[in-house]
Amino acid sequence: MFMSPESVGDTDCAADLIRIRRIREAPSGGIRHPDAGRDGLAFDSNDYLGLATYRPVQEAWSRGARIWGVGSGGSHLLSGHTRAHERLEEALAAWTGRERALLFSNGYMANLSVLQALCGKRHRVVQDRLNHASLWDGVRLSGARLRRYAHGKVEDAERLLRSGEGAPGLLVSEGVFSMDGDWAPLTGLAAAARAARVTFMVDDAHGIGIWGPEGQGTCAAHALGQDEVPILMATLGKALGTYGAFVAGSAALIETLIQRARPYRYTTALPPALAEATLIARQCVIREPERREHLFGLIHYFKTGCTELGLPLLPSPSPIQPLWLGSARAALDVSRALATRGLWVPAIRPPTVPRGQARLRISLSASHSRANIDRLLEGLSDVCPRLNPP
Ligand SMILES: *Cc1c(COP(=O)(O)O)cnc(C)c1O
Repeated sequence: MFMSPESVGDTDCAADLIRIRRIREAPSGGIRHPDAGRDGLAFDSNDYLGLATYRPVQEAWSRGARIWGVGSGGSHLLSGHTRAHERLEEALAAWTGRERALLFSNGYMANLSVLQALCGKRHRVVQDRLNHASLWDGVRLSGARLRRYAHGKVEDAERLLRSGEGAPGLLVSEGVFSMDGDWAPLTGLAAAARAARVTFMVDDAHGIGIWGPEGQGTCAAHALGQDEVPILMATLGKALGTYGAFVAGSAALIETLIQRARPYRYTTALPPALAEATLIARQCVIREPERREHLFGLIHYFKTGCTELGLPLLPSPSPIQPLWLGSARAALDVSRALATRGLWVPAIRPPTVPRGQARLRISLSASHSRANIDRLLEGLSDVCPRLNPP
């Protein structure tokens, strides 16, 4: 019933796969990390734009708490749905160019909701092999048949869509993959879904706030609107710096979710103050494109540096920069060696990534400077084995 280190099991040594929770004593996305020493630098946060600690967002939250109280006091369908939630939903719909948007407590529950509300035993759900765990769990909750296609391979998705046991259901992909940082071939997938008459869903947890003319995410960057991507899901706890998630799409989709999605109906609404803070965060994304430009500059600078040093970086255009190390042990060793140099970079191991693909997941943020990246490159150059990724 309880796990011992021996029971984890894998080709990697079991002890190398045990997770521990580190206690952080400072905000995220900031560049400081006390565990990494007084001058420590952290590259471990999804707060890609540094908005979690941005004063206007923090102030919107405290102002919101004074206006609305701290908790929402109920589920959306009973008493918890406030004007603040409503305003944020309208703003998110307008921003992403969708008819309506619906807020969820978090991304995990948003994904469970979509799959449970829209699919049942007779449906089939076709997903990228590297999709997030919440998308697998959603299929389980729905009872639908699950088919997984090779990562990023449109032809493989088409093959599974054609193979057709079960009624058409959903084709689901992330916009930017959370552990690889690469883009999904969204245009090809949208065409494949249309040809097979299945509904296309994109989880843009790591794309929202970063890409698109106003930071609306990878769908906007590919000029894919509601017709091409009828279900757009994104989280608020990453680039937007707050917490929660939303699904955007047609009024009919949103109404279906409200009426049917159990992880939506049977949970307390997000604190309204969080909705207030997120409204401001969204405004910052739109009005301060220099944050994104600075981040893209850092990404380019870091990648160029890694290439010059011959480091085994996997190809990624995003703030998620995976450095391939293979075994869990190698990833842990490098992560620990970096920590002794005051650099905080998490080792990502199975089962979060497939066996033999353990890596460092380096997260860059607009709160970093070029000097910070120089220090990271110096540390990596000192401790990283020069390997060739597969
Ligand atoms: C983080 C993440 C989620 C879950 O969102 P939370 O708000 O953290 O629950 C879902 N999908 C993807 C791709 C994610 O990276």
